[in-house]
Amino acid sequence: MSEDLNARIGKSVAKVLRDYAVTGQIQFTFGKIVVDYFLFNQIGKEILDGKIQVIYSAKRKPSEKYQGHYDNQLNEFVLHAWDTMSVKGRGLLIHEAVHAINDYNKLKGILKEDDEAAAYLAHGMYLIGKGIDPYQAKGPLQAGMTVAEVMMSESRITPEANELAYLHRAIRSSPLYSSEIGTAMSYNGV
Ligand SMILES: [Zn+2]
Repeated sequence: MSEDLNARIGKSVAKVLRDYAVTGQIQFTFGKIVVDYFLFNQIGKEILDGKIQVIYSAKRKPSEKYQGHYDNQLNEFVLHAWDTMSVKGRGLLIHEAVHAINDYNKLKGILKEDDEAAAYLAHGMYLIGKGIDPYQAKGPLQAGMTVAEVMMSESRITPEANELAYLHRAIRSSPLYSSEIGTAMSYNGV
């Protein structure tokens, strides 16, 4: 994939993250994690400044189960399914941007399941804001959407302990994360 195409995709990803109409409704905090519009905007800026690279790779190894991932060592968004226009595609960008936010904030020692809980909660807030029904999703995304729906309806920015436990259960029972459960993330900045 050419450098030029990745740069163009990066601009498009940054535009989505910096658009208040897309990320303005996503706001919450728990533990050391903070997610809000200003941080999505900052990640967009880091992409435009070249501190975070967006890499589009249509090919995916059989071992790669994700549609995308954020590599916190290389500061790269790797997208296997690139789509910055659809609700589904933007949901994926928001999910990966939360991992980038945690890296930007240099959150050391947070558990993988809290990192994913934050990503699915943001992803869920975006989809709920678009009027998608949680029952259209499954696994951790459905859990993220369900918690997001309750928090948004109550105008809360902090998940309750039982809501976090519910998110953790969904993440722990997903085959996507079985090898990483209980590991601490070592986010060192972008
Ligand atoms: Zn994730």
